Amino acid sequence: MRKLITLQLIIISVFLILTSGCDSSATFEVQTVSGPDIPGENDLWLSHEHILVDFIGADRINPDRWDREEVFRTMKPYLEELKPLKIKYFVDATPNYLARDVRLLASISEATGMKIITNTGLYSAVNHKYLPGYVKDSSALALSKMWIDEYENGIAGTEIKPGFIKISVNPTDTLDSLDSKVVEAAALTHLKTGLAIASHTGPANALWPQLKILSNNGVKTNAFIWVHAQNEEDYNNYKKAAELGCWISLDGMGWEYENHIKKLIFAKNEGILDHILVSHDAGWFDPAKTQQKVQPYTNLFEFVIPKLKANGFSDADINQLLSVNPARAFGIRVRNMPK
Ligand SMILES: [Zn+2]
Repeated sequence: MRKLITLQLIIISVFLILTSGCDSSATFEVQTVSGPDIPGENDLWLSHEHILVDFIGADRINPDRWDREEVFRTMKPYLEELKPLKIKYFVDATPNYLARDVRLLASISEATGMKIITNTGLYSAVNHKYLPGYVKDSSALALSKMWIDEYENGIAGTEIKPGFIKISVNPTDTLDSLDSKVVEAAALTHLKTGLAIASHTGPANALWPQLKILSNNGVKTNAFIWVHAQNEEDYNNYKKAAELGCWISLDGMGWEYENHIKKLIFAKNEGILDHILVSHDAGWFDPAKTQQKVQPYTNLFEFVIPKLKANGFSDADINQLLSVNPARAFGIRVRNMPK
């Protein structure tokens, strides 16, 4: 009888390992602008922020539009505010063609000691305003080769490598061909690099078709970060996404946090906190503005965490959100389905 129970336990364990991705307690390497790194168990992350964004559009974007020294001077104090809060990793979610400037990120990282993580990929939302012309005539495979090259050889002539894939799609139930192509390119890039795919999505309607494309390409859902998930108001979709293994990024806390708090309490009550990422989506220097009005990266610590604690969140829950989850989500390893 005991043997039978042991055998049953082994079978259950193997099943759980196969279905859950077997990485719940492992630590994985991440890629920062200053090189690879292994996050510690209590290292804190901001998993979606911006230092510089230029909304001019792919056809007019040009590094001459900003003075790197001025951006450095303006933004460095905001990164320095994070030191006493013990933030170690800062994910910069500004994609290529929206002013991803890895030399700037490297100099701020060097000056502040912050481990900054940049990205490869393309931003397809806003009716493709930020997609360069070549995307139309490129295959998903060709796009993925460009992104894989950035991971293997560095971005824009530097040795700086991306630590994740940042994409976006338009908020529609059915993705158009350009959106689908970008998602497929992300899936192909993931299979070669193990980089997580963070997709600016918003409401859940555009989440499901993206997960379908991942699955068609043999990529597991735990490689995918549903960015701006706070814009979904049907809480059942959070449960559904978590059940599928998806990372749910509640990342607008620089702008609004009461609604985020409600969603976090729901996630705790439903036992899905281990799928949630939190951040501000704050910052940033905007070259189109003559007067910069930067939103600091501190609401989480000033307002959100105290309210969560007043609502029964333990230190372990906070550590799960700010340390354990981002390290797992951004930890580099291929998450593919068994063939
Ligand atoms: Zn953002």
